[in-house]
Amino acid sequence: MVVTIDDIETVAVVGAGQMGRGIGAVAALAGYETYITDISESQLEEAKEEIEWSYGKTVENEKATEQETKAALASLTCTTAFDEAVGDAEFVTEAAVEQQAVKQDIFSDLDASAPDDTILATNTSGLNITKLAESTANPERVIGTHWFNPPMLMDLVEVIMTEHTPDSVADTAESLVDSFGKTPIRCKVDVPSFIVNRLMRPYGEGPAWMAYRGTHSFEEIDSAMKFTEGFPMGPFELADFTGGIQIRVEGEEDHLEDDRPMSYDTEVCPILHQLYEKGRYGRKTDAGYYEYDERDEPHISVDAGQGFDTLLVWAPIINEAAKMVENGVASVEDIDVGARLGGNWPMGPLEKADSVGADVILQKLTTVASRHEDTDKLAETLPCDLLVRKAKNDGTFY
Ligand code: NAD
Repeated sequence: MVVTIDDIETVAVVGAGQMGRGIGAVAALAGYETYITDISESQLEEAKEEIEWSYGKTVENEKATEQETKAALASLTCTTAFDEAVGDAEFVTEAAVEQQAVKQDIFSDLDASAPDDTILATNTSGLNITKLAESTANPERVIGTHWFNPPMLMDLVEVIMTEHTPDSVADTAESLVDSFGKTPIRCKVDVPSFIVNRLMRPYGEGPAWMAYRGTHSFEEIDSAMKFTEGFPMGPFELADFTGGIQIRVEGEEDHLEDDRPMSYDTEVCPILHQLYEKGRYGRKTDAGYYEYDERDEPHISVDAGQGFDTLLVWAPIINEAAKMVENGVASVEDIDVGARLGGNWPMGPLEKADSVGADVILQKLTTVASRHEDTDKLAETLPCDLLVRKAKNDGTFY
């Protein structure tokens, strides 16, 4: 037996870092008795201060009343006492450091200390949830709930099922996310990067190859994606902002060793390795794709992207989205909602496909694929059957 939404009164969060404190703040403000636990006393103290500060902002922005935030603070306990924190919780989410061994230990402890019918969730960005589930006595109650940073402000939560997760547990997790005032989308298979980051990958990778081959400049592509298409940032500006160069290069081996469905089997574009080896990780090192010594943001002119064909960037993303639909990973709607809310994209990839026509996308994808004839990216770039069928039959995703 696993709890249902009506049973949930107490929520516990393990890990009081950037994400854990945000998730705890959301849960308490939604009216749940909330515990945040961490091995570090100072992290818990900082978490409490930051939550108070963020509640102040919420009141200032008229998203909650002072009375509501006062009640939320009264229902929030920050403690290093793990058993006290999880002992009465019907829903626990782990948000500790991104290391499989640490998370595995936490899940063993949860197995022992949380009630037997409690749902055990993880906020991992990329680790194997199925393995975490299998390290517990009852894998059915383990699920992924992947929040976006900062949890108080971002509306989206991905709910990730493993092969052991019954629909009823995913339904409960989604209802809980709903009750937090957030929008859940369902990732029905435990695939690397889940939904939104699977779309983000070709958004970064495709343009990186264009720049590596010298066919287009960083500024040209960034300008077009930002000013013509309305993305919040172009792919290079975004990678410099998030530290994407370092994340991709350092995560490459883990990705290549991942044996989950739809795992990646291609190497990172050489331009990322070149920048990484020079210590150019992005804004935090004052240089990445762009230089940042004199300014905080790269100079990207509106004109630079005028002649650039943005569909060359969209096509591999749309193909990835279609592959997820084809493989039963996510619904058309959830993929587009994920792109809009998780990436702040102007529209979802499948809405985009319908607006320009699958036949046009197929044509663009063929152009991109032909440029990869000599690389191991070719297979990944080839159109999936679903996209080909839509293109042949004038089909749409909606
Ligand atoms: P963080 O480094 O800010 O916080 C991690 C916290 O875990 C620290 O407070 C640390 O003391 C605590 N911790 C370490 N071992 C612990 C243990 N055994 N028990 C309890 N607490 C322990 O990390 P973060 O950015 O909050 O990320 C947390 C998780 O969320 C990671 O899995 C990360 O991949 C994921 N995530 C992060 C983001 C993001 O943008 N930061 C977004 C989505 C998901």
